[in-house]
Amino acid sequence: MAKGIMIIVEQRNLQIRKVSLELLSQARKIADATGEPVVAVVLGQGIDELAATVAASGADKVILIDDAKLAEYTTGAYTSVLNKLIRKEEPQAVLIGNTAVGKDLAPRLAQRLGVGLASDCTGMEADSNSFLTFKRPIYAGKAFAHLTSNVRPIMATIRPNTFPVAAPDAARQAEVVKEAAEIDAADLVAILKEVAIAASKRPELTEANIIVSGGRGMKGPENYNILEDLADVVGAAVGASRAAVDSGWKEHKFQVGQTGKTVAPTLYIACGISGAIQHLAGMGSSKFIVAINKDPEANIFNVADYGIVGDLFEVVPLLTEEFKKLVN
Ligand code: FAD
Repeated sequence: MAKGIMIIVEQRNLQIRKVSLELLSQARKIADATGEPVVAVVLGQGIDELAATVAASGADKVILIDDAKLAEYTTGAYTSVLNKLIRKEEPQAVLIGNTAVGKDLAPRLAQRLGVGLASDCTGMEADSNSFLTFKRPIYAGKAFAHLTSNVRPIMATIRPNTFPVAAPDAARQAEVVKEAAEIDAADLVAILKEVAIAASKRPELTEANIIVSGGRGMKGPENYNILEDLADVVGAAVGASRAAVDSGWKEHKFQVGQTGKTVAPTLYIACGISGAIQHLAGMGSSKFIVAINKDPEANIFNVADYGIVGDLFEVVPLLTEEFKKLVN
């Protein structure tokens, strides 16, 4: 009989991604309410030390699959291993972060398992009939669909920053199990030769505590340096609206919003962004929102905690100078 909530933990360079900690935290809450165990699966090479972090974050059981072929994520190898493991473990539910890896892995895995997939969910709760119900935005975020299934496992990818990360409990103990990586040769159709990571000293957008974001009001790519100066003083990531991305001023990986990334930093500084619903869909749950816009009627002021009506080309450099005084 199906049992447990399985979290596929994503790690990069032996650092667990924040979204995985979010899933473990939420799964723990559901586990405490339903009595189902939380089973965390970590794939990679040299991953033993991650078991303690995963246990402290809420897992009852940690399955480590350590193999050189899993050192970096590849669709074929990860699908092959997880397909077999899930069939063996028979969890009630399988949860994956809706990251680049999750978006690649989850549909293929669901197809192999012959189950459906609720993708890009922004809510999950225990349900007495079918165990779990997922919420996902539809029609550009204007409505929500509530999805569930009686087929096991129920599979879903969850949008980063949907759930808070609970404080780790170092005293928590989990059963740690090591499994061999069983990879079908037929699945190794692509061999990863090299990973080229764009060098950046700034934090990754979805994991940043502060984000300085620019929209069409930036007027051109050459002006983003004023946002970058501010970002570097406060240790922030730089983001962009779709208008800025569509204009070719920033790459898509910087886009915040419905068709970009969902972020929930402590502080989001929106510069020259009008506050369209699709942009708000990606940053509306930031703890504090500061908006700089020369139009006092701009919609962004409806969600901002602090609004500055003014020309960003004057305001942003002033802010940078003031923050410099605070951090020095
Ligand atoms: P604008 O709406 O043009 O606003 C620019 C703002 O800059 C204005 O408010 C103006 O007053 C201000 N401004 C101009 N000059 C200055 C200055 N010197 N100083 C201060 N303020 C100034 N958008 C996203 O951002 N992310 C998404 O993921 C996304 N997904 C979408 C998906 C769909 C299906 C659709 C239909 C749209 C999507 N959009 C998305 C687009 C969205 O509807 C808006 O068009 C977009 O967010 C507008 O970007 P903006 O605020 O930068 O530009």
